[in-house]
Amino acid sequence: MTARVHDFDMAVVGGGFAGSILAMVGRRLGKSVLLLERHRHPRFVIGESSTPLANLLLEEIALRHDLPRLLPFCKWGTWQQAYPSMACGLKRGFSFYHHGPGGNPWRPDPSRSRELLVAASPSDPIADTHWFRPQLDHFLFNEAAQLGAEAVEEARLDPPQFLPAGVRLSGHAPDGPFTARARWLFDATGPRGYLHQSLALPESIPPHFPATEAVFGHFHGVGRWENVRPPEGTVPFPPDDAALHHVFDEGWTWVLRFNNGLTSAGFARRASRPPHAPPELAWKQWLERCPDIAACFAHATPARPIAHLPRLSFRTTRAAGPSWLMLPVAAGFIDPLLSMGFPLTLLGILRISDALQRGDNPGFDALGKETLGDLDAGFGMVGALYEAMPAFDAFRNLLMLYFASAIWTETARRLGCPGRAPGFLLRHHPAYSDATAECIRLARLRRWPEVRERVGRVLGDFDLAGMGDPSRLHRHGCDAAPLLANAGRIGATPAQMSAMLARSGFVA
Ligand SMILES: Cc1cc2nc3c(=O)[nH]c(=O)nc-3n(C[C@H](O)[C@H](O)[C@H](O)COP(=O)(O)OP(=O)(O)OC[C@H]3O[C@@H](n4cnc5c(N)ncnc54)[C@H](O)[C@@H]3O)c2cc1C
Repeated sequence: MTARVHDFDMAVVGGGFAGSILAMVGRRLGKSVLLLERHRHPRFVIGESSTPLANLLLEEIALRHDLPRLLPFCKWGTWQQAYPSMACGLKRGFSFYHHGPGGNPWRPDPSRSRELLVAASPSDPIADTHWFRPQLDHFLFNEAAQLGAEAVEEARLDPPQFLPAGVRLSGHAPDGPFTARARWLFDATGPRGYLHQSLALPESIPPHFPATEAVFGHFHGVGRWENVRPPEGTVPFPPDDAALHHVFDEGWTWVLRFNNGLTSAGFARRASRPPHAPPELAWKQWLERCPDIAACFAHATPARPIAHLPRLSFRTTRAAGPSWLMLPVAAGFIDPLLSMGFPLTLLGILRISDALQRGDNPGFDALGKETLGDLDAGFGMVGALYEAMPAFDAFRNLLMLYFASAIWTETARRLGCPGRAPGFLLRHHPAYSDATAECIRLARLRRWPEVRERVGRVLGDFDLAGMGDPSRLHRHGCDAAPLLANAGRIGATPAQMSAMLARSGFVA
């Protein structure tokens, strides 16, 4: 771009996966799009673990907007076939191991009181993935450019200038200064990003949510947990082919394996006070909390400097104006314990596409409020989980609440009836949201027996997949029987449920 003024329908600031996919959608809707990225791809970025809901939303975006090159990314099997040279990780589900305050080896026990395995898919071909973001984001940025977005890397932007209708952007690109006008500005720059800073907006994390920090990196040579602690009995999936979580009293560790020899690993915990230890030392000290986890990293080497984010979670106070909108992760970021970033982002993109298809007045104010409402639902759930970390049984109970809402939402979408799962985490479903709010309130008071009892009641109405079945002893496979038996809860017949399971590859 040069110094002459360019006019666009949409300016998207931030060329991560969110900005690039939004730019593609904009192009498919016939809009002219400017996509501005501060760095040059490929660049390191964190945020890797997808979920069934994220993949359903990605699929919907790809199908609705004729973006067939996005479709293979929705499943492990199709990704391997279509893009074998792009790294990703196999994610069959969610593995949780409890370590309490730490310091001791992890010990299994017959009642499996210290573990939880939740399958997200019954087989590898239709499994979810961990996205190796340097490659994936690079691919998506190029796709947006291929579809006709004016895609500029190494763009340094000045604050926006708001016009009576639209916005004027100016800054510097490698080929010199530029100025552009756009009807709508979308901020996809992530937490504490472009608009939050330019507009000097305050932060407002919900009062009960703990301040958290994270230390993380990519590592070569990480050993498998299941080699150090082989699971006893039958497991629904190999615990390492998953988002592997180790839960301590004040935080948790994630381990996500890619198929290129790298592993993403880090921890999030209640924030410590400055001065902070150097990240390498903080990581080493954290590993020492459990000799079994340390054994997995005994021969591991960082592929890049270990990073420290002293303030992990974030929520802005205003996510939209007449001509601008923040994407969900620019509006707020919830600790990654439940991998909510991708589904929130993709849901946000679908809402923008709905709004742009409705006509010239996209109604950003309503979208902004919806975005902040979604984030608050996530903060409520993850905040309660932090409270429950020292009481793993309660932690598992609360997770059941989350998984019940996630499976309900996925099932509604797979049935072709997304309206039966209103709002992110069913937050617009009065019965579910009222009951969940009560569970979260009780969790803040640490009244664990009441939490258990209330969660049991919610599951009585919303559990489609048999998560409340105690005979499973905390290992949940993908079992069709409860979905068929509980079809009526979500307004489906067993025949409709059966057809949906076959269509989705869950049963032969
Ligand atoms: C430690 C951690 C772990 C996470 N784990 C998960 C997970 O497992 N699953 C999950 O769903 N989510 C996770 N997330 C959240 C995840 O990172 C986000 O969902 C995801 O990255 C959002 O993508 P994005 O494109 O909106 O933002 P980003 O990936 O942050 O991309 C923003 C882009 O904007 C660019 N940019 C920034 N400022 C400017 C500017 N002023 N001008 C131009 N460009 C700019 C940046 O260079 C970057 O390329 C995690 C986050 C953290 C911090």
